[in-house]
Amino acid sequence: MPGVNVVGTTYDLAQDREWKNLAVTHSSIVGEETSRWSYLSQSPYDLIQKLKLIRMSSRLVGGCIQRCMGHDAINALAICTKEIDLTKGTHYFERFMDYLRFYQKNDIDGCCAQTDAKGDRLKRPSQQMNPDAYVHILEEQRDGIIVSGMKMNITQAAYADELIVIPTRALKENDRNYAVAFAIPADWEGIRLITYPVWTKECASSDCPPLFKYGVAESVVVFDHVFIPKERVFMCGEWEFGHRLALLFADSHRHSYCGCKPAVSDILCGAASLAAQANNIESVSHVQQKLSEFAGVAELAYAAGIAAALYGEVTSAEVFFPNLKYANIGRRLTGRLIYKEYNLLTEIAGGIAATLPSYEDFQAEETKHDLQKLIVRNGDFSPEMSRKIWSFIQYLSTSPMSAWNEVAGVHGGGSPIMETLALNQEYDYESRKKLARYLAGIDSDYDNSAELWDEPTFGESLKENKRENLRSLMGCTGSHVKKVI
Ligand SMILES: Cc1cc2nc3c(=O)[nH]c(=O)nc-3n(C[C@H](O)[C@H](O)[C@H](O)COP(=O)(O)OP(=O)(O)OC[C@H]3O[C@@H](n4cnc5c(N)ncnc54)[C@H](O)[C@@H]3O)c2cc1C
Repeated sequence: MPGVNVVGTTYDLAQDREWKNLAVTHSSIVGEETSRWSYLSQSPYDLIQKLKLIRMSSRLVGGCIQRCMGHDAINALAICTKEIDLTKGTHYFERFMDYLRFYQKNDIDGCCAQTDAKGDRLKRPSQQMNPDAYVHILEEQRDGIIVSGMKMNITQAAYADELIVIPTRALKENDRNYAVAFAIPADWEGIRLITYPVWTKECASSDCPPLFKYGVAESVVVFDHVFIPKERVFMCGEWEFGHRLALLFADSHRHSYCGCKPAVSDILCGAASLAAQANNIESVSHVQQKLSEFAGVAELAYAAGIAAALYGEVTSAEVFFPNLKYANIGRRLTGRLIYKEYNLLTEIAGGIAATLPSYEDFQAEETKHDLQKLIVRNGDFSPEMSRKIWSFIQYLSTSPMSAWNEVAGVHGGGSPIMETLALNQEYDYESRKKLARYLAGIDSDYDNSAELWDEPTFGESLKENKRENLRSLMGCTGSHVKKVI
């Protein structure tokens, strides 16, 4: 199964000595090595390593590496369970950490089942005609809860070890029963999966190109009166935290996109470059310009991911969380440009990306001589090499996997409007207006102080030490420092 091959690659890389420092790290929770996919980030360095792992491993499987969903879900749950406990005096964090110990020790592959079927988009969960449009609690028992409802678009549910279920949106008091989070194996009693596999091309032979070996599977996950044991329940009715948990996952996932989308750009850039060479148009100026577009998207999104890591913050659970502004801006850039990137490849490749004759025609006695002459456009390449290149371009451009990458680029991690909302919440438009008023001569000065103190977070303690040093150096209190500086 192509999706299993992707997940298998993540486990293989963890065994590879060269990848060890990147794919594996030390966990203080279990006191031993753990996969980076099941690790709670502690610092900007951890978030940058996560981005790098996502980008580098995604390249090898031709796209989505899939394991980041579980990573983002456990990080979100660690933060949110702590915050619920601090507000409500519950004990979810301890329970979640027990679960995480099991998760890390067994090198579990978790997927995140966040997106509900949703039904009527303009109605809240409790207002839906179909109560199963969102996963909800039917009954609370002494030793667990009974849940029903439907999730959809759930990547790797069919082959992940565990489903990590969290709410998909903000909730009101009437939606209390929809405020539920838990983890459970997908083959648990009462769970049905309706799975849709996607891959580039069926290929049974042993010399399939790597691109054909990998793919993904999406599932509708139906919960039909499912019993979830108490020790696996991490939110149960705390509707005020539905929004927070939904966003903690989504924002962490948008940060992960700053790693995987650059990998997709890397692949498309390589393909466009190879197509240009096969067409012998590599040195032409418009081609050079087009190739630079891929570099621009990939590196700007990656840079936004690094900035999000450097300007992240320590949460009450001591999990280090990426900066929302930079994570969302990076994700937004890549989502907007994904169709353009495919378009650039198509422009460079020409119509052959959709019309290449079949492999069988290249082999058949009656057609192979004509096709061998037709396929060579650059004398440096043999007919077979040329066919291989164009076959690769064809499947990269026109397969179901290409369409999956395009739609994932737009909606994965939340629809574009969600990034706009996040940015509008984070961005200080008022200070920009004040800047304009100052430059226009309406106001006599402009106060830069808020951003003057916005420093990379190399761990809160270090930042605090640096501030203290500055304060003592200048012999003044914190509030004065801002003004003096
Ligand atoms: C390839 C792929 C893989 C995915 N993998 C996962 C996964 O592993 N786990 C997971 O949980 N999810 C996954 N998703 C789901 C993804 O997070 C959602 O597709 C995304 O959040 C959008 O939700 P939706 O598909 O329900 O679209 P909708 O929310 O229905 O959005 C469609 C349009 O309706 C608009 N809209 C929706 N509601 C409102 C409203 N109330 N008011 C105004 N406008 C509205 C949106 O802005 C958008 O323009 C995946 C998606 C894709 C495409």
